[in-house]
Amino acid sequence: MKLTQADIYLSKCVRERANWICEYPGCGIISQHGRMTCGDRGMHQSHFIGRKYKATRYRPENSLCLCAKCHAEVEENPYLHNKIFIEIMGEGMAEMLTELKHQAYKPISGWKTFEKEAAKHYKKQLKEMRELRDHGEQGRIEFQGYQ
Ligand SMILES: [Zn+2]
Repeated sequence: MKLTQADIYLSKCVRERANWICEYPGCGIISQHGRMTCGDRGMHQSHFIGRKYKATRYRPENSLCLCAKCHAEVEENPYLHNKIFIEIMGEGMAEMLTELKHQAYKPISGWKTFEKEAAKHYKKQLKEMRELRDHGEQGRIEFQGYQ
């Protein structure tokens, strides 16, 4: 599936939110290099609901930051995948996203415009998060979803 600019910036935001630390319970691997370059460097964005569902694709709540090893592990095991997401984001959020997945949601402006605006939004959010990191913030930084 082709990545949009909105996917790319959201993915960076998801990883920055976690400070480039794998969110898999008990893992905690840190990508030092990723922090500096904001590149992939072994830290992935893992989607709860897959990218093909547009209604949930660009929501920050739908993703975790996982290291390559943990990402591969949850991709191979749907039961574990669900369990980990629910453990981290809560059952209510998992249910909400699952409901949203099947809705024929379409932004008024159309998807092309929405994705263009979402890319700009996440690019700006990323910049703000990185400024906080530059000022020494080490913990989780929440960011605003584009809707
Ligand atoms: Zn991990």
